[in-house]
Amino acid sequence: MGGGETAATRELRALNPSLEREFIRLTDRVFVAAGYGMSTFAFIIGEAGIIAVDAGSTPEATAEALGELRRHSHLPILGLVCTHHHFDHILGSVVLWEENPDIEIWGIEPFANEALRLAAVGPIALQRAFRQFGHLLPPELHINTGFASAAEARRFPLGDLPDPRVHLTRRVTGTAAVELGGVTLQVSHNPGETDDQALVWFERDRVAFAGDNMYRSWPNLYAIRGTPYRDVRDWCESIDRIRALEPAHLVLGHTLPISGAGAVDEALGVYSRALWHVYNATIEGMNAGRTPDELVLEVRLPEDLAEHPLLREYYGAVAWSVRAIFDGVLGWFDGNPTTLNPLYPAKRAERIAALAGGADILLEQARDALAAGEAQWAAELCDMLLAIDFRRDDVTALKADALDEIAFNLLNATGRNYLHTYAQELRESLGAAD
Ligand SMILES: [Zn+2]
Repeated sequence: MGGGETAATRELRALNPSLEREFIRLTDRVFVAAGYGMSTFAFIIGEAGIIAVDAGSTPEATAEALGELRRHSHLPILGLVCTHHHFDHILGSVVLWEENPDIEIWGIEPFANEALRLAAVGPIALQRAFRQFGHLLPPELHINTGFASAAEARRFPLGDLPDPRVHLTRRVTGTAAVELGGVTLQVSHNPGETDDQALVWFERDRVAFAGDNMYRSWPNLYAIRGTPYRDVRDWCESIDRIRALEPAHLVLGHTLPISGAGAVDEALGVYSRALWHVYNATIEGMNAGRTPDELVLEVRLPEDLAEHPLLREYYGAVAWSVRAIFDGVLGWFDGNPTTLNPLYPAKRAERIAALAGGADILLEQARDALAAGEAQWAAELCDMLLAIDFRRDDVTALKADALDEIAFNLLNATGRNYLHTYAQELRESLGAAD
């Protein structure tokens, strides 16, 4: 075991200071709450009232941000514009609603369609989300979520979540102007991370709100918690639509905002170039007959983009994005007819074990692989052994160790959190099979 002190661990941990709470005066009228809860939200002050853009992930954090705002203005909060429906952007809204029960709450149709589709499926989506965000991990294994601090993730309410639709009082199809208290915002459909993403534009101060189409990481073109396809071509076009506004400030759905017309244009240009590159290269490879397993080796960001601080794989990952694009466009069949009706895992594992000279040899190989730093191979060998006999505690424990080791060498926080949580679940299951 490597003990977890790897280059990946150090780089991910180095992100933490930038995820702390910060209340930022972006312009004379726009205040941004970053690090309050799991997402970034903002307040825009007009002559007679305030509009919030998003509302944070917990009432406690949103109340604290509101306390900061009240040092600058005591005008009523008349409106809330939701950049999209994800719970980490709306659960704090109860605080705004308590201040003003008549608050107008705006969102883009088809609002919350992702959450509603997943809720209809059952508890698996939530279980996988808890793994991805690391909500159930001990602090020493929980570095952050890739875009929010571990402390804020652990404050997220894990009980029954409300129907995300109940919040809206105004539903926008396409584009609308929101005019409240002397603030005018343009709100327009800008699909990407979700189908209900809004591009919010405060032209007076040239502030654009990107929602979750952008944050300081390679974006989550695919969420390993599992969601319907996030159309990557739409996402690329939505980034270009933000850039065309030529904003002077860009507020991101998570992490710190970007200021200065030149810096904003550069950031959006880099993001656009990277997303289009991965999308186009994947489509090109698909047309050349490549399978997803081949494409994840072939489709890479050019070096200057891969090293760019806005595109590090803290939250999303390029390889998982490539698989998502393939699956979103062509579905699960990789095109190779051998994979149409593959052998069942137990059948394949029994034959591999026979080839190797018995299951004991596979186990020995798995132990050796983990000791030699080949944790992925160790986990795959464990899977074969568990396919033959799922009751083996020795194999289950070895697989848990292999998953932790893979996690320690992964930069991506969602992957790390998922692997560590799954390893924890495996250890909790020990002794239960009989
Ligand atoms: Zn978000």
